[in-house]
Amino acid sequence: MSLSPVQLVVIGAGPGGYAAAFKAADLGLSVALVDKEANPGGVCLYRGCIPSKTYLHAAKVISEARHAADFGIAYGAPKIDINKLRDWKKSVVAKLTGGLGALTKQRKIRYIQGEAVFVNSSALKIKKSDGIVEDLSFEKAILATGSRPSAMPNLPKSRHIWDSTSALDMDAVPGRLLVVGGGYIGMELGTVYHELGAKISVVEMMPGLLPGADRDLADVLYKRVKGLFARIMLETKVVKMEENKDGITVTFADKDGKEFKEDYDQVLVSVGRKPNSEGLGLENTKVKVNARGFVEVNDQRRTNDPNIYAIGDVAGDPMLAHKATHEGLVAAEAIAGHKVAFEPRAIPAVVFTDPEIAWCGLTETDAQKTGQEIRVVKFPWGASGRALTLGRQDGLTKILVDPKTERVLGIGIVGVGAGEMIAEGVVAVEMGSVVKDLKLSIHPHPTLSETIMEAAESFFGSSTHIYRPKK
Ligand SMILES: Cc1cc2nc3c(=O)[nH]c(=O)nc-3n(C[C@H](O)[C@H](O)[C@H](O)COP(=O)(O)OP(=O)(O)OC[C@H]3O[C@@H](n4cnc5c(N)ncnc54)[C@H](O)[C@@H]3O)c2cc1C
Repeated sequence: MSLSPVQLVVIGAGPGGYAAAFKAADLGLSVALVDKEANPGGVCLYRGCIPSKTYLHAAKVISEARHAADFGIAYGAPKIDINKLRDWKKSVVAKLTGGLGALTKQRKIRYIQGEAVFVNSSALKIKKSDGIVEDLSFEKAILATGSRPSAMPNLPKSRHIWDSTSALDMDAVPGRLLVVGGGYIGMELGTVYHELGAKISVVEMMPGLLPGADRDLADVLYKRVKGLFARIMLETKVVKMEENKDGITVTFADKDGKEFKEDYDQVLVSVGRKPNSEGLGLENTKVKVNARGFVEVNDQRRTNDPNIYAIGDVAGDPMLAHKATHEGLVAAEAIAGHKVAFEPRAIPAVVFTDPEIAWCGLTETDAQKTGQEIRVVKFPWGASGRALTLGRQDGLTKILVDPKTERVLGIGIVGVGAGEMIAEGVVAVEMGSVVKDLKLSIHPHPTLSETIMEAAESFFGSSTHIYRPKK
């Protein structure tokens, strides 16, 4: 059977795919959107950003209630109804994905629940959720099939081993939880389970948590979680996992190769994500896939096949929802004939731990790697009135400046609410602001955003709340 042809088909309805489909329909194209789920949402809404942030909000409430004792308000130990918490997460996801389903209908996009495979550069075979297989021919396609958790080799099949998806299903809080991988997903979910009462251990083979983030930012988080988590093992590898009577026995090797064993009730493996570029029939098209499995694209997100575009996680790093959405908009506009390109100067990254870490534009780590000359100005939150009112002086704001042009090249923030604050940095970097723009823009008082203004002031020798003696 064949479905009637469309101008554009989008495969995968995550934040990249549905944004692309919506934009293309708004621009007047006839659009079909294919996904395995009943409504759009993708990993981000069903198994990623939204469920994890729903739980992180609950974790924050628990943590703040505990810290309220420091200023004289004590609530006692929280009573956690895990089923209610999970149902609340489910209701948030259902509301958002249902809303996207309604928006799809309003835009007259043909939504097909099923799995698509390319037959050639202008036709798909779609195995629909009702089991019927249909052909769909198209003028252009956007591949937005996203990514999945990377597995570790030789793991036993066990209900005591989670990936990020099963950890978010949440049916119980384990006693001892080992998080394998100190990246953002492991640290966020570790934070959630810590606040719910699990004893968290983290193992990371690199010398620090959050490889990729600047060390001075990651160190603030490290100091805090070191005091909260049971154990953080750096430069340590997992050698083997074996199921035992009621959990998992894990064999580790430290940096000298010395092996040791520990028992855990549950293990969360969060060692990265892999693009979904296999099993799609790409061999029947001209699409090229690189050695890491990412689809190769140009600055309009067009693949090597003139009819096929690719966006989001399947099209390369950084694997972030907002990057996927932006690429989706560019691809849809390019297909509609607009002169556009994907060329951001600043894709923000946010780690929603406690404290949060956020950065955009150039990082100090990258500048060191390339030898790019920069000046870094910092404002420690110990000098922020707002941070003091929150009882959270464990923060730092820094600005990376081009010493010659005084342009703002990047901003990094660690501290509560850093994820909201970084948007100012994105605007500064994208707009090519000079550091004086940040210094001269009046920031509201008392806010944490003032730390950006004061870091900018210190570029010129002094800032109001930090005394620096003259040399
Ligand atoms: C636990 C977790 C937390 C995260 N938190 C954040 C965060 O806070 N902020 C952030 O920016 N990012 C976060 N991410 C990453 C974010 O989820 C991804 O970057 C984003 O979802 C990528 O969007 P996408 O559109 O490329 O594809 P995805 O969201 O991966 O969606 C792809 C869709 O394609 C469908 N699909 C695949 N193959 C086919 C096929 N053959 N036919 C039909 N449909 C198909 C899939 O079922 C899926 O629905 C998180 C991820 C995880 C796992």
